[in-house]
Amino acid sequence: LANKKFNMTSSVIKVRDVEIGNNNFVIMAGPCAIENEKQIIETAHAIKKSGASILRGGAYKPRTSPYSFQGLEEEGLKYMSKAREETGLPIVCEVTSLKSVETAYKYVDMFQIGARNMQNFYLLKEIGKTNTPVLLKRGLSATIDEWLNAAEYIMSEGNSNVVLCERGIRTFETATRNTLDISAIPIIKQKSHLPIIVDPSHATGKRAYVNPLSKASVAVGADGIMVEVHPNPSVALSDGPQSLPPKEFDALCNELRPFAKLV
Ligand code: PEP
Ligand code: MN
Repeated sequence: LANKKFNMTSSVIKVRDVEIGNNNFVIMAGPCAIENEKQIIETAHAIKKSGASILRGGAYKPRTSPYSFQGLEEEGLKYMSKAREETGLPIVCEVTSLKSVETAYKYVDMFQIGARNMQNFYLLKEIGKTNTPVLLKRGLSATIDEWLNAAEYIMSEGNSNVVLCERGIRTFETATRNTLDISAIPIIKQKSHLPIIVDPSHATGKRAYVNPLSKASVAVGADGIMVEVHPNPSVALSDGPQSLPPKEFDALCNELRPFAKLV
């Protein structure tokens, strides 16, 4: 179902009234984790003003260490809904378990499946039974075919509202957190009708590379980007080093605008 042979025309996935695909360049932005009400609402207003059209924020955080901040769960989803109410921005949040799908279903406009859960097939099937759009991140060590099969798991249950997200893969290189597989974008465009966006924040782990790789994403024909933005990255509870302060995010949007149709 994800294969281009099945559907020759590029799919356009609607998240509320935001169309992903259709030659738009959709910018999703927000903090790695929702930390408190003020943080998410402040960020939502800032990113909207700059040109983002979807708000991201994690309420269920898949942290490497069990002792790291794990997310505010439903309380965080409530703050996200409030940010949507105030700004009109649709919201995307990661779900990590069947229980979190049940809770998040009531709040979010788009589910995010994180890299670590790309092959959690029961979770994929469960969200496949909903109509909620899904942002499916590439697994840390997943091939493109494995990734498309993960999309197939969602679509075969009836939910065809899938957007792919390239977020870097594990390689021998240590200068960046992951290695952005920029060639995945034209390859996916050739193999599939699904929209694909790039997450330069998790791909690099370093703020300085988010800007150039966002530009690269436009150049290779991605349908958008997902960027981590925090009002004060130095005190962020997660992923501070890769998060852009609002001012830098604003500059990035302005640099992309002449080359990409921001919506
Ligand atoms: C995230 O987007 O917050 C995240 C955890 O990303 P990934 O699953 O790509 O590591
Ligand atoms: Mn993060």
